[in-house]
Amino acid sequence: MSALELIATTKTYGDIIAVDAIDHKFASGTYSCLLGPSGCGKSSTLRMIAGHETVTSGDIILGGTNVTDLPPAARGTAMMFQNYALFPHLSVIDNVAFSQKMQGIEKTKRRARAMELLELVDMQEYAERIPDQLSGGQQQRVALARALITEPSILLLDEPLSALDPFLRIKMRTELKKLQRSLGISFIHVTHSQDEALALADEIIVMNNAVIEQSGSPSEVFNRPNSEFVAKFIGGHNVIQTDTGKIAVRTDRVKIQKSKSKGAISAAIQDVEFLGSTVNVTLNSDPKGEMVVSVSDNVFYENPMEIGETAFLSWNKKDAHKLAE
Ligand code: ADP
Ligand code: MG
Repeated sequence: MSALELIATTKTYGDIIAVDAIDHKFASGTYSCLLGPSGCGKSSTLRMIAGHETVTSGDIILGGTNVTDLPPAARGTAMMFQNYALFPHLSVIDNVAFSQKMQGIEKTKRRARAMELLELVDMQEYAERIPDQLSGGQQQRVALARALITEPSILLLDEPLSALDPFLRIKMRTELKKLQRSLGISFIHVTHSQDEALALADEIIVMNNAVIEQSGSPSEVFNRPNSEFVAKFIGGHNVIQTDTGKIAVRTDRVKIQKSKSKGAISAAIQDVEFLGSTVNVTLNSDPKGEMVVSVSDNVFYENPMEIGETAFLSWNKKDAHKLAE
């Protein structure tokens, strides 16, 4: 049985169709990422799952129960918000214990439970501080502990890493994944970052214009994008028009050479970008348009190329992936 099933789930706001009859089954105990550009309907989907937004039509089935019309607290989900939404005047431990206080659980008992969750996210030493006295990463851990105290079967996270600086983002990303593995519950994480989704997810669900474009494991989505949109959004691909339709070829699978070989296409180098372990070369090839080739830094600098030079591009047929029209 899947942990969560969306059946023709739809959300409209007046004339705007934010989520257009999406169907999806989320497996239990997995880390799923809803990935897509701003405005594609990710947060609306998550909020409907949480019960913070009404469902215009369709159904939401959680662990076999139709929860479409149930209030948030009756669903067994918990949500961690983008800005963490901690109570500024409450100590860390009281923030975490808050939902248990609402349930009327006695003070020593709820504080003991809150402490266990603070230990889980390694924040036990900060229990008596208020949120203002914590860094962004620490606030996030408190928000996680606060969401987890309800023992949800599914944790919903809306852009949980976007407020963090790049270094901390990668550190917290690893911690989220570790936490999901150790708890064994399903996490559904909304992000517009391809890197984040590729690094974290067991399953990526790519959304665009209120619908699901593609879902699959990170390697399936990255290596076999089924549309031009997914190939471009997931990044690392060239989309090339051929006589028989469009193909996608990974930027690191295109070979770039100074001299012409059979079948290679010529292109003018427009830009060379050093990215550390790789160098991205952007070229313009008439009539195929812009192409990007990603070369490992040692290969590139053995035989460097410069802006304005003409280069020749080729790829193996097996690396060319046909896209749906
Ligand atoms: P995402 O999280 O992918 O950025 P959202 O689910 O927030 O997308 O929004 C999807 C669409 O619905 C957008 O066009 C957005 O402007 C619109 N929308 C979201 N919330 C509301 C609202 N409360 N009222 C009206 N339109 C909304
Ligand atoms: Mg959003």
